[in-house]
Amino acid sequence: MGALGEGWIRNFVDGGFVDPDPQHSFDKSDPATGRVFARVHEADAALVDRAVGSARRALDAGWSHTPVSERAELLRRTADRIAERFEEFVAAEVADTGKPITQARELDVARAVANFRTFADVVAAAGQESYITDLADGRRALNYAVRKPLGVVAVIVPWNLPLLLLTWKVAPALACGNAVVVKPSEETPSTATLLAEVLQEVGLPAGIYNVVHGFGNGSAGEYVTTHPGIDGVTFTGSTATGSRVMKAVAPQVRPVSFELGGKNAAVVFDDADVDEVLSGLTRSVFANTGQVCLCTERVYVQRTIFHEIASGLVERAQRLRLGAPADSETTTGPLISQSHRDKVLSYFALAEQTGAKVLTGGNIPDLGAALNGGSWIEPTLWTGLSNADRAVREEIFGPVAALIPFDTEAEAIGLANDTDYGLAASVWTNDLRRGHRVAQTMRVGISWINTWFTRELRSPFGGVGLSGIGREGGESSLHFYTEPTNVCVQL
Ligand code: NDP
Repeated sequence: MGALGEGWIRNFVDGGFVDPDPQHSFDKSDPATGRVFARVHEADAALVDRAVGSARRALDAGWSHTPVSERAELLRRTADRIAERFEEFVAAEVADTGKPITQARELDVARAVANFRTFADVVAAAGQESYITDLADGRRALNYAVRKPLGVVAVIVPWNLPLLLLTWKVAPALACGNAVVVKPSEETPSTATLLAEVLQEVGLPAGIYNVVHGFGNGSAGEYVTTHPGIDGVTFTGSTATGSRVMKAVAPQVRPVSFELGGKNAAVVFDDADVDEVLSGLTRSVFANTGQVCLCTERVYVQRTIFHEIASGLVERAQRLRLGAPADSETTTGPLISQSHRDKVLSYFALAEQTGAKVLTGGNIPDLGAALNGGSWIEPTLWTGLSNADRAVREEIFGPVAALIPFDTEAEAIGLANDTDYGLAASVWTNDLRRGHRVAQTMRVGISWINTWFTRELRSPFGGVGLSGIGREGGESSLHFYTEPTNVCVQL
């Protein structure tokens, strides 16, 4: 039986899809309509144990020693196969998330292909570290580091950009010769499952890629992260869950790579190109309905152009088109679930209680009978809040931002850095020196000037503070997914 057949989304363990157990399963619904379209088999502790065991056996059977050129070639074949089955991945991603089909095509699935191609190139080009050491007696020693796979890696990913974030981790993990046990979000089980089929088709040995479905606490997520056979955890998700995962792996002292939440700032100076700012902010606040870790939720605007930016952004927000994902005119999808919408709405209420003026949005829209069962929400903008307010301090993860004025560069830097998070920032100015100066001062993992979301997959990516631990991307990924052994030779 294939990955997504007969209304079931199956676990994939030891190279095969597992027969589902109706007693241990949950419904998967479409966030755009609220309609249930599949049952997902929830993995129990025994199945997770089988997955980890099969991963270990497959590593020992030879995968970890496969020549780099072979692994790079397998990654390239995977990219090609995803490209061939592109529309199946698009359909699966749209069904799980309700996101506009254009976004699934242009971003999510396109990036999955790019992730496999990039890490094939990165691993093929990687060198080894070596040093000649001058010793006190006049002789020399040669030191070189041999990088070996980390082992069985737990890959835990969220629901917002499911395939993009999954392949961002799986591609380098496989490139480095690891085996993975993947736990997708229970909200987005489909594309990780479809990827299992693709990896089977391109000849990945059984046991190297496993998918176990379920929830976090008391379910597959916890079983994976606490399993003694796991050699490391790479996790993208909320800061609170990251902290729990860290505690779970602490007794076994396993390495972790954490890409966590954000409360990202945009700083707009009055010499910026207003049209460019408005286009950039419209994307950075509302892309994926605000459900991107890199989305802007705090917009600091120099007072001289505050009203111009605020009214321009309101106009752009009102032009966004909420609607059926399959409609190519749709720009904005629903939130992932009713419970996530409840959370976002609770921040809407809180913001209004603490003095927010709602410039636009703030409500559940009426999109007609076909869509009203979905978890829709209006793109929303506030003024009247300050950095002291919880709605400006805590990650909301919805299509909403607070606009706050500033007067001087120093004040803007202070406001932007006044957060416990530290994932991303964007600076908007036509003064080149100021742009670099401010961008470098941001306490974040990535700082953009006059753009947002532009990514180079070989660059280090991650966050500081509550936004994460470590970096992935390019060589940083190779470092996380390998362990070096240094060899020292007396010459
Ligand atoms: P969660 O932290 O709720 O979940 C992330 C993943 O962890 C899910 O697969 C979840 O399973 C699983 N999980 C939950 N509890 C545990 C546990 N105790 N042990 C192991 N796994 C567990 O995040 P969301 O899915 O809600 O995603 C949104 C968050 O992700 C936002 O905070 C966002 O900022 C962050 N994010 C960060 C990015 C970055 O690169 N920094 C990129 C994208 C998102 P389940 O869903 O089944 O509970």
